Amino acid sequence: MTTSSLCAVQILSCYKVGGAQVMMPRRMAFATPDMKAAIFAIADDVKARGGAFVLSDLFRSHDMQLQAHLDHVNGKKPAFSPLPGGSMHEGGRAFDVVIDDLKMSLADFWEIAKRHGVVPIIAEPKTTIKECWHFECRGSHQRVYDHYASGKGRNMKPATAMAASAILAVGLKVDAFNDCDAAAVQAALIRLGYDIGNIDGAIGPRSRAAIEALGATGDMVQIRLHLTAELQRRFPGEYFEQTLEATAPGGSFESLPAATSPVTEAIIIAAPPPASAPAPAPPRTAPPAVKNKPLEASRSIWGAVLAALAGVGLALHEIATGAWSWLEATLPFSTTWLFLGVLLLATFLVIYARIDDRLKGRR
Ligand SMILES: [Zn+2]
Repeated sequence: MTTSSLCAVQILSCYKVGGAQVMMPRRMAFATPDMKAAIFAIADDVKARGGAFVLSDLFRSHDMQLQAHLDHVNGKKPAFSPLPGGSMHEGGRAFDVVIDDLKMSLADFWEIAKRHGVVPIIAEPKTTIKECWHFECRGSHQRVYDHYASGKGRNMKPATAMAASAILAVGLKVDAFNDCDAAAVQAALIRLGYDIGNIDGAIGPRSRAAIEALGATGDMVQIRLHLTAELQRRFPGEYFEQTLEATAPGGSFESLPAATSPVTEAIIIAAPPPASAPAPAPPRTAPPAVKNKPLEASRSIWGAVLAALAGVGLALHEIATGAWSWLEATLPFSTTWLFLGVLLLATFLVIYARIDDRLKGRR
């Protein structure tokens, strides 16, 4: 009965890193079923208009998100990345697109994306704005965003709460919660239309009343399973069709990041890994950052040029200072006289050149 909400997407060729189009690593090739459908539909529409739909990022595990955050903090990656637990990439519900390859205006791509339930996170379609490459398929998690945006939830920003809901929904952990099962239940209740206040992992009276209204009983794991089934009835497109046994006989999770509890293992299904090759070990480092904007490339080049100039200037200053003290020690007269002498000579040369020009009739 319980099915997956995260699956592998077979779009392994439309991925670009460092300017070259390569196979998307399997560790990144995960998306929720609705996101997967949107990716294929968008790719078709973009292709029909003569462009190419190429991604630079898709799914990020907890560790990949942490690495992306650290790379940004350490200046290795210009694009901002939040801590694990705060990105829709971790819920298989965000992609970063290579805008240049679309061969259309960003406004036109927004139209295509919106047709398939995928939205940008910036206010205007301008390629000069950071995160212009980032798009999200929010599905019913938009309800969590709206819940927080309207002030019914207050312990997180709307985008963070939505991301937490999306991550919990695919059975992965969010560090902010001691009890991820309880937090997942709270997020599920909001998606099902109940106002239970904050998602905080501690079930309060309002959550308890909503759970009873839905007829869910048992421990938190059982309640979570019950609500997942309810969500699947309400939002079928957000859940994978096949059961765990049908998709991965024996339950194979090697290609997915570690789940947090038995219930998370029950609701995550990895699509079966390719028969020929074993699933790769989870990476310790994030994929290299892809520069989405030429502006950022030129900024770093100018930064390097300026740093080099500053170095050369400092060296020249050192040499000049040394030469000056040598002069002062060596000259039989003061350096002030030397300075005045040079000034007089220069003035004389300028005047002489002018007179000379006049005599020769030059201008
Ligand atoms: Zn992104």
